[in-house]
Formats: sequence, structure tokens, C-alpha cells
Amino acid sequence: EWVDFTEFFNRIIDRFEMSKEQNVTFKRAFSKKVRFLEIDEDKITQVLYNIISNAMKYSPEGGTITYRLRDRDDVLEISISDQGVGIPKENVDKIFDRFYRVDKARSRQLGGTGLGLAIAKEMVQAHGGAIWAKSEEGKGTTIYFTLPMEKEQEDEWE
Ligand code: ATP
Ligand code: MG
Repeated sequence: EWVDFTEFFNRIIDRFEMSKEQNVTFKRAFSKKVRFLEIDEDKITQVLYNIISNAMKYSPEGGTITYRLRDRDDVLEISISDQGVGIPKENVDKIFDRFYRVDKARSRQLGGTGLGLAIAKEMVQAHGGAIWAKSEEGKGTTIYFTLPMEKEQEDEWE
């Protein structure tokens, strides 16, 4: 169905903000502009839930999680940044593999199965989008994904 992604994104961030028990600050670095996208709301909710849960799980006490929307040519780029432990360069692309977890000992402590990002990847790809990560050890991680956006039909009357 068609949704205003800006409003949808805000709603999901609100839900995390209201239920969070950790000392983390949320920063919304995007404009209020209306952005209509055709998505499966349940599936994209799951994608955001999996990414934001990780950002919370790996955030330090007092850290900030930054939410961004960037309007690209024909896609909307969504990103979520944390100031957590980060991921070693050689492992960054593997985090989207099923059951992959960077540090077995640390991950076991924090709980989980290693499926969250693999599921997110499947759902983003089913929407015709892409998902990737940038990370710096000790500084933090940003997860990016794109969703196709209707191009405005400017040449409709030509
Ligand atoms: P699950 O999501 O199934 O509960 P999980 O969080 O371990 O378990 P994924 O969400 O797929 O699994 O993430 C895979 C691995 O990628 C994690 O175990 C962790 O090592 C690493 N990772 C993911 N997001 C972050 C992040 N924001 N900061 C640091 N490491 C991360
Ligand atoms: Mg996870």
C-alpha cells in the first residue's frame, strides 16, 4: 500500500522512544517533507525493528542513535547510525548472512540468533531495494537501505 514514509518512520521511532529503558538519545535528522512510497508496512516495520534493535543493543550508555532520510534520484535512502562498538572491516559484509555474529562470546551475552539482518536483507530486496553497512571499530555503525521511489512525472505533458 502507499504510505507517507516520513510519517511511518516517525511512528516507528516514537514506539522505540517510548519503550526504551536504556540511556540513549534519538536524533531525527530528516525533514518533515511528505514522501510517498509503495511498501508492505508489516515487512518494512520488521526491517526497521531489526536494525534499530541492534543499534540499541550495541549502543554505549549515553550514546546517540541518528535517523536519516535522504532523497536520491529514484530511491529513498534510510540510515540508522549508532555510536557503539562497531564491526571489524573484514566482517562488515557478512553481518547480513544467516546466523552470522561478529563476536561469538559477546553476541551470546547479548542474546539473539543472528537472523535479524538476514531477514531485513530479504525483505528490502523483495521491495527492490539494497542494504549495506558502514562501520568503524570503537566509533559506531551505520546501516543503510534504499526503497524505490516513484519518480515525479515531469515530462507527462510533453
Ligand atoms: P538477532 O537479530 O537474531 O536477535 P543478532 O542481533 O546477533 O541476533 P543480526 O541482527 O543479524 O543478529 O546481526 C548480526 C551480527 O552483526 C550481530 O551479532 C553483531 O555481531 C553484528 N551487528 C549488527 N548490528 C550491529 C551494530 N549496530 N553494531 C555492532 N555490531 C552489529
Ligand atoms: Mg539483531
